Amino acid sequence: MAKHDLVSPHLPASNRFMKAQSLMRNCAMVCAVSSLLAEAALAQSTIGGPVAQKLQGLQGDEIGVPKKRPDTQQPVQAPQQEPANKRQIQASEPKKAEPSSDATPPTACLAQLQTVATAKRTTTPISKDSQCVIDDPVELIATKGPYSVAFAEGLTLDCTFALALAEFTANTLQPLARHHLETTVTKLGSGQGFVCRRRNNATIGRLSEHAFGNAFDLTSYVVQNKPTITVRLEEKMKPNEAAFQRALRKAACGTFTTVLGPGSNKAHATHLHFDLGRSEKKNPYRICE
Ligand SMILES: [Zn+2]
Repeated sequence: MAKHDLVSPHLPASNRFMKAQSLMRNCAMVCAVSSLLAEAALAQSTIGGPVAQKLQGLQGDEIGVPKKRPDTQQPVQAPQQEPANKRQIQASEPKKAEPSSDATPPTACLAQLQTVATAKRTTTPISKDSQCVIDDPVELIATKGPYSVAFAEGLTLDCTFALALAEFTANTLQPLARHHLETTVTKLGSGQGFVCRRRNNATIGRLSEHAFGNAFDLTSYVVQNKPTITVRLEEKMKPNEAAFQRALRKAACGTFTTVLGPGSNKAHATHLHFDLGRSEKKNPYRICE
């Protein structure tokens, strides 16, 4: 119905004017309500109708659930980043240690020796005779492994000989001790290896292999939980100790070129002498006494 139809032409002019004003006020109210309804309809259609109603009923945290999906994905990404960080840390640690280990690289012999024994580079002890020189001087400290055998402090030897002695001690001496003595040898008593002198302490003649760090004088066996056994004639030892030393001397002849001990001569009455004769290539002899 048109607005003008509501205002009857039969009413007086003043009454028509008042009626018209009333209609206009009503119209304004209707228009306002219509505008609000239109806005609500627009909002409903924009958000999604029923979906929007559900969202209006949810709490803020629930609405935020989809927003948490990136959070739940982060732990998946995190482990991929953590190892990388750890690798970076691990990779940086050796770099920090490198500056402190800037010593001269070990010789091939010392590197091989250090796989079976604790040993370090050293120098030939000062001596009066300039002929007394160790080619590759090392200090042999102890064999490695579960049944480590220590050597006398300051045992200075040529590396080639030290390697032979360390392998012989770990692979032959210790198993023989465990078999005959039923215990383990923890340390070998000895001299210092290097001695600048002639054979048998003579004033003339050839230099001893000790003058080249190429010999070892074994004086005693320190064993686990038992008294130390000193090297002496087997006849003066307990049966199991004598059997051990006898087997040791025989086996040593397979490793060293010279093996002397109690019974060989007076000079070796109280120790076993092992050496690798440097002259073996020119005059390949063996002494196994
Ligand atoms: Zn000797």
